[in-house]
Amino acid sequence: MFENNSLLSWRNFSQMKECCPVCKQLYEPEPGYYYGAMFVSYALTTGPTLAIVALMMIFSEEITTWMFVGALVLALVLFLPAIFKLSRAIWINIFISYDPMAAATPHVRGH
Ligand SMILES: [Zn+2]
Repeated sequence: MFENNSLLSWRNFSQMKECCPVCKQLYEPEPGYYYGAMFVSYALTTGPTLAIVALMMIFSEEITTWMFVGALVLALVLFLPAIFKLSRAIWINIFISYDPMAAATPHVRGH
């Protein structure tokens, strides 16, 4: 789906292929298609963040707010390519279902 499929690499991380090499499904069926992926990335980010906050509250009284904010920003930057790719992949999967038979059947572009 992406030119660079590594989840942790920054190189061209936002470059998407135009369409699926197997079934020719367009990866951006309309302009602004991935606007809603923002909400997916929000959900992906909030879950782990809340879990980390809870763990820190349980196990440590020594960690200051600023240490926490620093660690959080670092983690977000580190995982930005992963969050970006996963949220787009999840978003397109909500509307276009994966067809395991696509490789076997001749396909019309856009279907
Ligand atoms: Zn395909």
